[in-house]
Amino acid sequence: MRVLIRGGRVIDPSRGLDAVRDVAIDGGIVRGVAEHVEERGHEVIDATGCIVAPGFIDMHVHLREPGATHKETIATGTAAAVAGGFTAVACMPNTNPAIDTPAVIAEIEQRAAAAGFARVYPVGAITRNREGKEIAPFHELATAGAVAFSDDGSTVMNPRVLRNAALYARDVRGPFISHCLDDELHGDAVMNEGPQSVRLGLLGSPGLAEDIVVARDLLIAADTRKRWHVAHVSTANAVEIVRWARSRGTTVTCEVTPHHLLLGDDLFVDYHARAKVAPPLRGPDDAAALRAAVRDGVIDAFASDHAPHTAEEKAQLLSVAPVGFSGLEIAVGAYAEALPDLPLERFVALLSTNPAKILGVEGGTLATGVRADVTIFAERPWTVDASAFYSKGKNTPFDGRRFTRRVVATVVGGRLAYHVERGIIERLAYA
Ligand SMILES: [Zn+2]
Ligand SMILES: [Zn+2]
Repeated sequence: MRVLIRGGRVIDPSRGLDAVRDVAIDGGIVRGVAEHVEERGHEVIDATGCIVAPGFIDMHVHLREPGATHKETIATGTAAAVAGGFTAVACMPNTNPAIDTPAVIAEIEQRAAAAGFARVYPVGAITRNREGKEIAPFHELATAGAVAFSDDGSTVMNPRVLRNAALYARDVRGPFISHCLDDELHGDAVMNEGPQSVRLGLLGSPGLAEDIVVARDLLIAADTRKRWHVAHVSTANAVEIVRWARSRGTTVTCEVTPHHLLLGDDLFVDYHARAKVAPPLRGPDDAAALRAAVRDGVIDAFASDHAPHTAEEKAQLLSVAPVGFSGLEIAVGAYAEALPDLPLERFVALLSTNPAKILGVEGGTLATGVRADVTIFAERPWTVDASAFYSKGKNTPFDGRRFTRRVVATVVGGRLAYHVERGIIERLAYA
């Protein structure tokens, strides 16, 4: 099948390209990006007035399958991904069973292929069943297709276990991804520790609970020479620690979520758990420091930490409701809202070229001969309506927010998977 993306402003950070171009696709492969491509039996996607970019990759999502399919399935999660402009996602291993055997990876890949929306790259566990005790079989997991390793959702609290794991995995491709929250300092906190938690009489988690683990993990990264990635940095100190580690030669990258850039711990006034997340939403100074860190290049990737739950689960008491909320379908709008002046080339790099590099996966470029994963977006105001999400998790603290940047179309492997006017396009409808 031939597809022609006509007349968009193509921004490809991998080649420093920023110009109005046609993108020709044939057999799922980019055949050329040129000033004018003659239409010959192509399906034409009109991109006039839009930005055409290499497909966005969300390197941090929770798809909930296997084990919690009432919250999300691989099919609904990847439908949400393409609706959010993501041609690929990396899924975290806090499933049931955890992603700690090649069999689970094979099952996830098979279900992702059957769904046929976004590509799915499994993240293997660092420790068996994410219990923080025995290290996972990294070589087997990597051979089976794991692109990185993480116990996300939990911190590997034992430094001896983490150090041994990093030494053992040093020659395995794929970084360790740290979820940084000290169990003892975080305790049963429901929100950030600060003036807001004091005012509401709620148990707060200090920024220190994150900072202390970021520092420890990057010292372990330096000691073991394992390539490292820090998930969802949320404090000014964590940013400074990443900067310091990098300045002394540690190979470390990091990501930031849309909610930590844009929201704060003032959202708990009604004691509802809609904004309960880990790490917690911080105060305005931390959010400002994160935005500055994106601008000055300390942050390498945007990642949504899409963590769907049912409405019933999120409606529980703040103390028992689960952490997290859906992020895939608001990410592009929220990032643009948080950083309206960020150059578009950098915006695309943070969502595409950089995560591809960090995970060592194909993508992040529209060079001739690569798989045709393309994201098309535009400045087109829209209002978030969580009830209309493709994700089963229809809750987000951004519900009702007005954003200006919107995904127009998502092309995966040369196939139009989502269009803003047509919605999700099932593969069967296409045959
Ligand atoms: Zn996490
Ligand atoms: Zn997560």
